[in-house]
Amino acid sequence: MNIAIDGPAGSGKSSVAKSVAKKIGFVYVDTGSMYRAMALKALNNNVNIDDNEEVRRLISETSFSLDRKKLLIDSNPISDKIRDDKVTSLSSKIAINRDIRNFLVSEQRKIAENNNVVMEGRDIGTVVLKQSKNKFYLDANPEVRAERRLLQKNEEFTEANLKNTISSIRERDERDSSREIDPLRIAEDAKYIDTSNLTLEEVVDIIINELKR
Ligand code: C5P
Repeated sequence: MNIAIDGPAGSGKSSVAKSVAKKIGFVYVDTGSMYRAMALKALNNNVNIDDNEEVRRLISETSFSLDRKKLLIDSNPISDKIRDDKVTSLSSKIAINRDIRNFLVSEQRKIAENNNVVMEGRDIGTVVLKQSKNKFYLDANPEVRAERRLLQKNEEFTEANLKNTISSIRERDERDSSREIDPLRIAEDAKYIDTSNLTLEEVVDIIINELKR
């Protein structure tokens, strides 16, 4: 059994997916961390992401695996550096590359075939786990999403920080929703949840109740 959770940055999908997975004993899979880990590896190896040959080499030299429910890249834990602003921005740039997407979608399907998963990302309900009967799309207004991001990164709630975060979220939303391949979209059969005024527990309860039905 697989559960697909999609939504834009800051919609709360990571915390929600993690909590749902824990409650029902499923494996939590953060597919964004795979795009981020590839972006970090590209940065560390000076890969020119506009050069298809270089990107193909990067893919052929990369592997993902699960070890006791934890995602590994090249048999190593994924570094916290994937959350740096530079990597965040590069991750949505490499996510438009067809070869990268084909590779990661296939890795994600392999994980879902061998485990019961709560998988979160942008294209899980529409592409990766299209056949799943359990799809959720989380959303929230940009201000709330920016506040969550600041909280997550332990940054101050100044007007300037908020403004910058809203604009980088909007930029990434735009790139994720307008890309040609597998853009961020609400799957027709997904349950849409606006989390702007809901607590984490409330969203988790909505999902668990829906799954029980
Ligand atoms: O979810 P997160 O913000 O960590 O994802 C980082 C980036 O990876 C997103 O902005 C998006 O461009 C890309 N991504 C994607 N498809 C997914 C998960 C993430 O394109 N399933």
